[in-house]
Amino acid sequence: MAASASGLRVLVIDEQSVTRRMAAKMVRDGGATEVLEAEGVEHALVLLDAQQLPVDLVITDIKAGASSGSMDAVAFVRRIAERRLAAHLIIASALEEPIIRAVEAMANGFGLDVAGLVRRPISPETLRPVIVRLVARRAAAPLLRSRSVHLTVEDLRHAIADKQFVPYFQPRVRASDGSVTAAEALIRWAHPERGLVPPGAFIPLADRTGLIDGITDVVLEKSINWARVWRDAGIDIAVSVNLTENALNQPRLPERIAQLARQHDVAHGRIVLEVTESAAITDKASSLEALARLRIMGFGLSIDDFGTGMGTPEQLARTPFTEVKIDQALVTGVCEQPQFFGVLEYSLKLAKQLNLKTVAEGVETQADWDLLNDLGCDEMQGYHVARPMPGEEIEGWAKGWHREAL
Ligand code: C2E
Ligand code: MG
Ligand code: MG
Repeated sequence: MAASASGLRVLVIDEQSVTRRMAAKMVRDGGATEVLEAEGVEHALVLLDAQQLPVDLVITDIKAGASSGSMDAVAFVRRIAERRLAAHLIIASALEEPIIRAVEAMANGFGLDVAGLVRRPISPETLRPVIVRLVARRAAAPLLRSRSVHLTVEDLRHAIADKQFVPYFQPRVRASDGSVTAAEALIRWAHPERGLVPPGAFIPLADRTGLIDGITDVVLEKSINWARVWRDAGIDIAVSVNLTENALNQPRLPERIAQLARQHDVAHGRIVLEVTESAAITDKASSLEALARLRIMGFGLSIDDFGTGMGTPEQLARTPFTEVKIDQALVTGVCEQPQFFGVLEYSLKLAKQLNLKTVAEGVETQADWDLLNDLGCDEMQGYHVARPMPGEEIEGWAKGWHREAL
């Protein structure tokens, strides 16, 4: 595999030494700068802990019946994701597809990018295209490379004080007529040396250490300001902002948003707050209070990553939301994954029955769009429509988009 793995630092885990050595040789021949090998996840963790920097790629097998007492591969995936020991993961498994997909969704949920799934036993034919795709994606998207930045609380504090956070905005459009309805604020850390650091690399740390409120406030301020600027330029769309559960629980949050809306003269209906399904479906009194107050004040409330949380229809019916955003794990490339049609259809139907607007995120192709449109999804967001962009670019994009509407 000439130069296909060029520049990567890779860890290969497989208990079968023949398979492991073969995979290691493949990536080494493909130009990887460093290849580590481990026969099991415990050994792998020791190797990863000893590294100065996170590795770029872990290729690991996931199998049934991990021996008792030892860490299983799923717990291992979670561990490397949480501790940011690796940037990308390739899962090799002979298990049924739904199980592997569940692990993939979990890894992505913890901020570890899953570069691909291959069937075991691994062969050059199956592994090579996945690595080639990964290397191409890394070359195209500097954000992916910076996932492996190691961050400290001090770095974050300094970045907040130095105002290094900038929201990018990703538009979303109505499926029926292509009109632009809203833009979602997606924060990036404009790091002086490392370039744009994606939110997955620092939001969890900020959330755990109480620094999230400072970041949320910056995003709210800038986003509401942009909503006003766009409206003045004739682009009257809503802006949506992501909230972690802790940010939602900040007691003064509803007043603060109302204050910013007043200050920038933006109608409450033009501001949407996104909360992930797991935080949205809650019995926690403080979250319920915040959600109810925000809704009574007239802000939009969106359940993010819908379809992956634990919400039952009954719980969903009790939450005061205005829309759901179908998780990209169910959306991206859905046409090639018929096993997801049922879940997707069910999620959309459930939302409709609860009178919620439906938005698909991660729409990457026309084929994804067509299928979601056929299933009755109201709005689309994803690379097929537009990539996240600086606030300054929204006006030009929105004006151009109408001309070339679908
Ligand atoms: P999210 O709210 O579910 O945002 C969607 C993510 O999907 C974004 O990643 C977006 O860039 C990406 N995306 C959009 N379209 C496509 C597509 O067609 N294909 C693929 N593969 N991906 C697509 P991003 O910007 O890395 O953000 C990741 C997550 O970080 C967000 O997920 C959100 O949960 C969180 N986040 C972002 N900004 C903030 C923020 O200001 N505050 C908080 N608390 N969380 C934030
Ligand atoms: Mg979101
Ligand atoms: Mg989402």
